[in-house]
Amino acid sequence: MELRSIYWFRNDLRLSDNLSLNKALDDSKHILFIYIDDETNYQQTSWKFIRTANHRKTFIYQGISSLNKDLKKYGHSLNVLRGNSVETLIKVIQEHNIDRIFCEEIFASEERAQIELLKKFGVNVKTFFQSSLFNISQLPFTIKNIPDVFTKFRKSIELEKIEPNNPEQLSYNIKNILPINFNNTKITVKKIHGHKESSFPIYKDNFMGGEINAIENIKKYFQSNLPQSYKDTRNNLMGLNFSTKFSPWLASGFISPRQIYAYLKDYEHKFLQNESTYWIFFELLWRDFFRFIFIKYGDKFFYKSGLGLNPVKINHNTRKLEAWIKGKTSDSFINAGMTELYKTGFLSNRMRQIVASYLVNELSCDWRSGASWFESQLIDYDVYSNYGNWAYIAGCGTDPRGGRHFNVDKQKKIYDPDGIYQKVWNES
Ligand code: FAD
Repeated sequence: MELRSIYWFRNDLRLSDNLSLNKALDDSKHILFIYIDDETNYQQTSWKFIRTANHRKTFIYQGISSLNKDLKKYGHSLNVLRGNSVETLIKVIQEHNIDRIFCEEIFASEERAQIELLKKFGVNVKTFFQSSLFNISQLPFTIKNIPDVFTKFRKSIELEKIEPNNPEQLSYNIKNILPINFNNTKITVKKIHGHKESSFPIYKDNFMGGEINAIENIKKYFQSNLPQSYKDTRNNLMGLNFSTKFSPWLASGFISPRQIYAYLKDYEHKFLQNESTYWIFFELLWRDFFRFIFIKYGDKFFYKSGLGLNPVKINHNTRKLEAWIKGKTSDSFINAGMTELYKTGFLSNRMRQIVASYLVNELSCDWRSGASWFESQLIDYDVYSNYGNWAYIAGCGTDPRGGRHFNVDKQKKIYDPDGIYQKVWNES
């Protein structure tokens, strides 16, 4: 059969180690590559924030433009459409006589609803979950039985000595498969004003979104000595090198965690294996943990009391939330963090923890308002990691020990003893 397929790129904007894409390439005769910039990205969330602010939008468009160039090498192109994803796809299917859609599986409610709706309209959709380090089938437990506590999850994986699968090459069939003619849309990437102190400066050529840049950065990281001291520096607040900076590339799928793992193992094999190199794996495991826990509990992660294990005291106040967002609270350390987030779209893990704890514990605001602001602003926004971490700090996740309360003064003394971080961002 001369099967005609759409490959719908979602948060997997790459050609290498893209299992879902390979399935489409191996199983079709004609293909149309599509990316949909969904209209909801520019609508307000229930907290009245735009869902995708400029930094992430720019980063993704940089990556789309790079993907388009990569596809052109094989005689294809990426067609970028704007609108409601489901309506747009159905129109394209009808106009171009498409048999099937292939795409990655995303286990968040809106993304799942899109797939359900497509199926309801009779569309043949093939999805494949591929954004984790370990495949679901490799886990030593069913999703229902996944341990709720990270340490238990980690120890089971380590005890069973489970290894992530090797990354897959792009299917050779990309050279044989025929493109479906389509009116190409021009991809325009807007320039963005950068801040010279940004820890992830997307206005610089080598920090732009895209698969090639992602691979270059990851290679560069593992050619340096940085992995050897990762554990000692990972909690710092500023600079290009204190942590790996893999998250923005991972969030849009410019690279897969399996590819990173392969580079990490190669580094350990050739150079050195120590606690710091292990810790990079440890953090990637946290990323997997939040994915699998999200699959287990689903939409409960969006409830006010989350999974409801611990009592939560919320006394939401819109003025306090606004002061937090605008970096106008009574604490200059918090203000510095919130200004950095707004001006750059990035924040270190330690600062994310501190400002999140402040919103929840000092201002008693609804944790979901903070999660929603992060969703709007972060270049590396990822539904599982964002809502998972927020719920963890607010005590609304799976941890029976309750939330995390960071003493802001203590954190300031440890991580910004001479006030440089505050000076940079409060005077920017
Ligand atoms: P590194 O320290 O170099 O870590 C290496 C990789 O491990 C990261 O790229 C990331 O993929 C993973 N990782 C590290 N820490 C965590 C963690 N706590 N949870 C899950 N994965 C982790 N990360 C996102 O990718 N997207 C988000 O939307 C997001 N929201 C967050 C919200 C809050 C409130 C908090 C406290 C953390 C959030 N994180 C999120 C996790 C973490 O802050 C970032 O992944 C990390 O700061 C990115 O920088 P890095 O790549 O240099 O991290």
